[in-house]
Amino acid sequence: MSRQPEGLGPAVDVSVVVPVYDEAEVLEEFAGRLRAVLDAPGAAQHVGSYEVLVVDDGSQDRSPVVLARLRRDWPQLRVVRLRRNSGHQAALSAGLALARGTRGVLTMDADLQDPPEVLPDLVWAAETNEVVYAVRGDRSSDSRFKRVSAEWFYRVLRSLGATLPAHAGDFRWMDRVVVDAVLALPEQHRVLRLVVPELGFRSGAVTYRRAPRAAGRTKYPLHRMLRLSLDAITGSSTAPLRLATVFGLGGAAASFLLLVYALGSFALGATVPGWTSTVTVVAGVGGLQLLCTGILGEYLGRLYVQAQNRPSYLVAADSLREQRTDPGPD
Ligand code: UDP
Ligand code: MG
Repeated sequence: MSRQPEGLGPAVDVSVVVPVYDEAEVLEEFAGRLRAVLDAPGAAQHVGSYEVLVVDDGSQDRSPVVLARLRRDWPQLRVVRLRRNSGHQAALSAGLALARGTRGVLTMDADLQDPPEVLPDLVWAAETNEVVYAVRGDRSSDSRFKRVSAEWFYRVLRSLGATLPAHAGDFRWMDRVVVDAVLALPEQHRVLRLVVPELGFRSGAVTYRRAPRAAGRTKYPLHRMLRLSLDAITGSSTAPLRLATVFGLGGAAASFLLLVYALGSFALGATVPGWTSTVTVVAGVGGLQLLCTGILGEYLGRLYVQAQNRPSYLVAADSLREQRTDPGPD
């Protein structure tokens, strides 16, 4: 059974969560196209009842005004506003926490890069999957820099042990059980596209053509991309901390060799005065410091993983149900 989030008003079958930051220019067209898909004849039996939950991520432009106007004749549109701009991922998390969909939640961007027309396919694939990724088959609309940097970035992440589907962003379907599992993670800087695959739910994919942004400009300038990258790397791996250990051990070994060499040269009388003591101190203390930093890194890594407090496993609920159902007389 799906759990209905409490205290959020009447439940619906499906929530569409849309983070919005300064998107006044596209909202009207976005709402029009999304509504056409959701209210299309036949959609009702497929999707069921729905809500569109826009999370206004502290927009500075006319987005709140446009949203208020749209709401007037679209009862299924809900708008929640964050007090300040908290970022795409935080806005998505807020949306997941407030979504009332008992069947599941669809997340998508407002700038029409994620075409609403793909929604029926995602919901269709959700019949047999708990997570459905919308995968960018053609992303020629993204800049070359964006594609190349994304490609390399995801390669690095995979090599660090992250599981993530290729060319999938935050356009996806999540069943209620998945949403609840994500919400149960206590960590602050969740990067959803990394966290969701890691939970290990049964997943499928639907390929779509990524459109160019309908209007306005990207809210991911370079420094935000870097921020997301850092959150992603540190969130999914403690490998960078392990580097401290490796460098520490390497440095300590090199320092020790230098120390032996310095003392040897001193014993043979082949040094200028003062050299041996200087080298001994520098190499000895330096090596020791590197080693200690490495050890600290190891403990810090353990602490970090512990603080993230992710469940080390999640039981597949349907497997429990299967056990419970009476096999019947045989
Ligand atoms: N967004 C947000 N808060 C932010 C930045 C972006 O809610 O601080 C929203 C934005 O309005 C859009 C989605 O997140 O709906 C994706 O942002 P954008 O299209 O700028 O990213 P890009 O597609 O360029 O990676
Ligand atoms: Mg975009």
